[in-house]
Amino acid sequence: FVECDSVEVHFGALPVIQGVSFSVSRGEVVAIIGPSGSGKTTLIRCLNHLLAPSAGTVRIAGETLGVRVGANGRLIKLPARKVAAQRRSIGFVFQRFNLFPHLTTLQNVMEAPVHVLGRPKTDARAVAEKHLARVGLADKADAYPRQLSGGQQQRVAIARALAMDPELILFDEPTSALDPEMVGEVLAVMRDLAAQGMTMLIVSHEMGFVREVADRVIMLDAGRIVEQGPPAEVFDRPKNPRTQAFLSKIL
Ligand code: ATP
Repeated sequence: FVECDSVEVHFGALPVIQGVSFSVSRGEVVAIIGPSGSGKTTLIRCLNHLLAPSAGTVRIAGETLGVRVGANGRLIKLPARKVAAQRRSIGFVFQRFNLFPHLTTLQNVMEAPVHVLGRPKTDARAVAEKHLARVGLADKADAYPRQLSGGQQQRVAIARALAMDPELILFDEPTSALDPEMVGEVLAVMRDLAAQGMTMLIVSHEMGFVREVADRVIMLDAGRIVEQGPPAEVFDRPKNPRTQAFLSKIL
């Protein structure tokens, strides 16, 4: 469903992602792990074209993001409007929740369905209420982000992603900005989504969660995939010395 093919990202002369290829099937939960600076955030940003790869392509549901292949095989950039349309089916949950501070919880969740998809407000409201209930925040519909804890804000951010009816949700270290006592409630929501068959790609340092929920783990080091496999294999019998060194520091 997701196909990343020979993706490279360079910031000036600095190669941050170097020839990364992998795929994710529909309904699969894949975790990306690796040391700080290994390129995890950069890679996940390529998957919804927040960042254009310097080379290589990302295909979601068979459609190449951000570019089309012209005659003679050259890649031609798509207009912004087309890229925005491609992004609609991809949810993104950021490290920092990025809610609109001047909108209530309910308005935050309704915003994109109304303004991007052009849904009637009454429909969008019903959908938003459903997703707020799904993340356990039905009673916070009228609260503003500043009145919510970090964990609650992140759950609103997940409800906001769900309201767009995404086919894939990308999570970039969704719990790393949270106080420890709030991590569990966010992971619980993510665990439910995984159990319901959502296709998810998660950058995470929560190894217990990754072990329990991920179907596959991809270990990134210095911009390359050094190892991938089921969590039990990667965590208990890492083959690559860099994976071994990384895990020995954090487990
Ligand atoms: P962390 O776990 O600390 O969040 P990460 O694995 O997500 O790290 P990235 O944030 O993807 O790593 O960064 C990878 C490398 O790319 C780092 O060396 C970083 O300094 C560099 N980098 C990231 N964004 C930019 C940018 N916009 N311009 C220049 N260099 C960048």
